[in-house]
Amino acid sequence: IDCSWKKITNNIKDIFDFKEVLGSGSFSEVYLVRERKTGNFYALKCVKKKQLHHSNLENEIKVLKRIKHDNVVGLEDFYETRTHYYLVMELVSGGELFDRILDRGVYTEKDASRVIKQVLEAVSYLHQNSIVHRDLKPENLLYYSSDENAKIMISDFGLSKMADHGVMSTACGTPGYVGMNGFTQNRTVKLWTAGLSALSGYLPFYEENETRLFSKIMKAEYAFHSPYWDEISESAKDFIRHMLEKNPNKRFTTEQALSHAWIIGDTAHNDNII
Ligand code: ADP
Ligand code: MG
Repeated sequence: IDCSWKKITNNIKDIFDFKEVLGSGSFSEVYLVRERKTGNFYALKCVKKKQLHHSNLENEIKVLKRIKHDNVVGLEDFYETRTHYYLVMELVSGGELFDRILDRGVYTEKDASRVIKQVLEAVSYLHQNSIVHRDLKPENLLYYSSDENAKIMISDFGLSKMADHGVMSTACGTPGYVGMNGFTQNRTVKLWTAGLSALSGYLPFYEENETRLFSKIMKAEYAFHSPYWDEISESAKDFIRHMLEKNPNKRFTTEQALSHAWIIGDTAHNDNII
């Protein structure tokens, strides 16, 4: 059995040159770093062990390291010191989804459809690998680069959330990370569509704090209020209704969502919606 997935070091600064802060959250800080040996740049997520009451982090990390998808930020390496865990992540430089929408000031259903498609593809891949993100929200969606057509990447597998759940695991190297509580797919898709609702126009400007904004959106299911939604295509509304369906048996799966006309057809409008 190969258990060499984790590297141990006394001082992380021997391995990486710290350049700048990229972001921070309640459980972690993310830095732009340069690996001394290779000169490669990464996003290094630093997590204090003290703040992470998690017995099975290592099993989860092992699985995340094997995850490879175009729209998922890759976990390249994992270091441990006496006090910290360090997640060496693929560096993306395009910034957060909402920031870009607000900066651009122009956003169409077609743009939203393209973003949602990529997210659904990533989510579908993660589900196939029995991984539930559990922290899917707009601030965890990053653009790969500042390029106008940059792909969108899911980041942040919510280590803070991992702390609350049990994880099934087997021998080192076996995909043992299993979805929690049976709400896997539907719950996630529902969340995503809430994000979509935000893209569709009227909520983003009602709340400056993205987390509060998001919880507002969650409560505003099915509220296609006039006049904000008047110009939104019937196809988009149909898509959203299926995604937000209360009955889990009727609700779209990621696969159904991916084959909806609003995603693969040409029903998404091209007019500005914000
Ligand atoms: P938290 O668990 O604290 O929410 P995140 O992983 O979401 O941590 O990272 C916090 C912030 O750091 C993100 O919102 C983003 O701005 C930045 N960030 C995270 N991952 C990357 C990355 N791979 N490349 C560039 N910036 C990143
Ligand atoms: Mg985050």
